[in-house]
Amino acid sequence: MQDLMSKARELDRGDPLQDFRDRFQIREGLIYLDGNSLGCLPKATAQRMGETLQREWGEGLITSWLDAEWSTAPRRIGDKIGQLIGAQPGEVIAADSTSINIFKALTAALSLRPDRTTILTETGNFPTDSYMMQGIGAFTGGRITVRSVAPEDVLDAVDENTAAVLLTQVHYKSSLKRDIASVTKAIQDVGALAIWDLSHSTGAIELDMTGANVDFAVGCGYKFLNGGPGAPAFLYAAARNHNAQAVLSGWFGHAKPFDFDEDYRPADGIERFLCGTPYVLGLAALEEGVEMMLEPQMADVRRKSELMGDLLIEAMEPLCREYGLRLASPLEAAQRGSHVGFSHENAYAMVQALRELDMIADFRTPDIIRLGITPLYLRYTDIIEAVARLERVCADRMWDKPEYRTRAAVT
Ligand SMILES: *Cc1c(COP(=O)(O)O)cnc(C)c1O
Repeated sequence: MQDLMSKARELDRGDPLQDFRDRFQIREGLIYLDGNSLGCLPKATAQRMGETLQREWGEGLITSWLDAEWSTAPRRIGDKIGQLIGAQPGEVIAADSTSINIFKALTAALSLRPDRTTILTETGNFPTDSYMMQGIGAFTGGRITVRSVAPEDVLDAVDENTAAVLLTQVHYKSSLKRDIASVTKAIQDVGALAIWDLSHSTGAIELDMTGANVDFAVGCGYKFLNGGPGAPAFLYAAARNHNAQAVLSGWFGHAKPFDFDEDYRPADGIERFLCGTPYVLGLAALEEGVEMMLEPQMADVRRKSELMGDLLIEAMEPLCREYGLRLASPLEAAQRGSHVGFSHENAYAMVQALRELDMIADFRTPDIIRLGITPLYLRYTDIIEAVARLERVCADRMWDKPEYRTRAAVT
């Protein structure tokens, strides 16, 4: 471990991203490996929220819809997220939750393939992705069939009945990463549309929606984008798909919302996928997180994430041998997203016990301890310190404490 600590110090000294950590509020001593679930608070966000509340809301009141550019925030912030995912201006909006945007993308895709009746995903996808699909199936009285097949069988299952395939690029448990370009092409070769969930990718991995010719994509604002709890999500729709039907046809997606027409007439561009009034406070916080994420080279972020993952896996080797932890993510950095999972029968109690040692990790059912790697505010030495704390939990069998064995409602 001493050798690895020296190696980590060396890596920290040469880290091109080292200055970002100071721009977040992070309590000294805390090891936070859960930024892939809820990103840390940028100091600039605290200030921005103060201004938005006091000046824009408190003083400006309703005039702020125009004067503080509240009404155009979904498109403005969407365009900034667009730069992170390799989209063109006017192809992304920041709005609603990921779940709702999944619904919008699936129903829009179905409207573009009216003769096809199946939507397809993989088993083990993030539950909300599957649940939203099942809701569409139920709502259509079974006209739309939802298919879920094993991850390795997805491409074989795409056929002339498939309207759209919804996949997550980086798996929330295993961290297994899919190649967007080749999978998108294989889906489109059979005439189906490709929808990607980028929740664990955006802000962690270089993405190129345009280059990969992706049809629709969605992702979270509160994970690697550091947009804050419950931050608005985003929806990407390639410009060629802007003629799709917006099934959630709320007034903010209308061509002229303030004409108050009796009848719905969709906006021409990405705005048709807006629904109701934008979440102004959440958008303000999200914008700060996104702007900071635009500063570093995404290649540097990704490289640091890969190196950190490799270092973590190397440092965990003795614990795996000694205490029966098993790597539950790809060994190869190129096949991983920005978290690493280890499985252990006492994973849940382990994660609870780590809190006592001032470390936050994540438990994912049934037996995974998930360690999220957020290159903007983690140091390589934090990774080694995290493994040291985990070793203490194992060596002292801290998971045996009864108070750590009872499951809480939110894990
Ligand atoms: C986190 C996550 C979500 C979250 O969806 P919400 O609507 O924001 O709760 C959706 N999909 C994936 C793959 C996720 O990892």
